[in-house]
Amino acid sequence: MTEPFVSAHDSFYIIKDWHEAVPGLVAGFSTKIGGESTGEFASLNTGFHVNDRPEDVRANRERIGSLVGIPAGSWVGACQTHGKRMAQVTKTDSGKGGLYYESSFPDTDGLYTNEKGILLTLCYADCVPLYFLSKKDKRIGTAHAGWKGTVLGIGARLVEEWEKDGIKPEDMEAVIGPSICQKCYKVDSRVIDRVRQWTDDRSPLPFAPAEGEPGQFHLSLQELNELILIQAGIPRENIRSSKRCTSCNSEFFSHRRDNGKTGRMLGFIGWKEGVST
Ligand SMILES: [Zn+2]
Repeated sequence: MTEPFVSAHDSFYIIKDWHEAVPGLVAGFSTKIGGESTGEFASLNTGFHVNDRPEDVRANRERIGSLVGIPAGSWVGACQTHGKRMAQVTKTDSGKGGLYYESSFPDTDGLYTNEKGILLTLCYADCVPLYFLSKKDKRIGTAHAGWKGTVLGIGARLVEEWEKDGIKPEDMEAVIGPSICQKCYKVDSRVIDRVRQWTDDRSPLPFAPAEGEPGQFHLSLQELNELILIQAGIPRENIRSSKRCTSCNSEFFSHRRDNGKTGRMLGFIGWKEGVST
């Protein structure tokens, strides 16, 4: 499988074939390179909630906005809580959480819209960014899936929400973005017990015991999310997964690798205004 995330700039990757197939669509994931933040947030931190200087975070967001072509003042963001609540974004929401965290969607880990000129954004440091597109229905969406959101089935939840609006899972495409890889991601049996609700009798399993460490497992959040999306009805051939690991690669912030004190990358998807689709 070819890697869906292709570097467009030092500061971000884009889902290249979506970009090419759908005029005006921008979807991608930022790096930590090319920003104003200092110390553990050096340099392109996009998270307001990690106690970085808000003026630096705003400058970083404005920089990404100008590179991507949708200004940060038109972005939508969320106070992410590792839950599965999601919000349908309309024109009147434009700007909520873009430059001021206080205006973000509260307690929300998934966003979707049919509107143009708005960038849907969520923040990451190892958790899995999920991206959704129905070309036919002109709808885009994104969800934040750490282990908690993943086992809560946030990916399936988004599919269900779209189905309520008459969108068929077979018309949906999903991309699983850069996130911590199985080798870097060790969890205990408490997590695996919750993973098993999605994996009964399935093989190969998305986790394996950690050698010489009883009760510890290496979990592939990417494979688990893929299983969940397939169970929700998205055809396997419509799902692709990035091999880029946020912990293996020093161009990303990593919550695990950096021992919790680190910045956040931005996962984003939006339609640019004034481009016909
Ligand atoms: Zn890794």
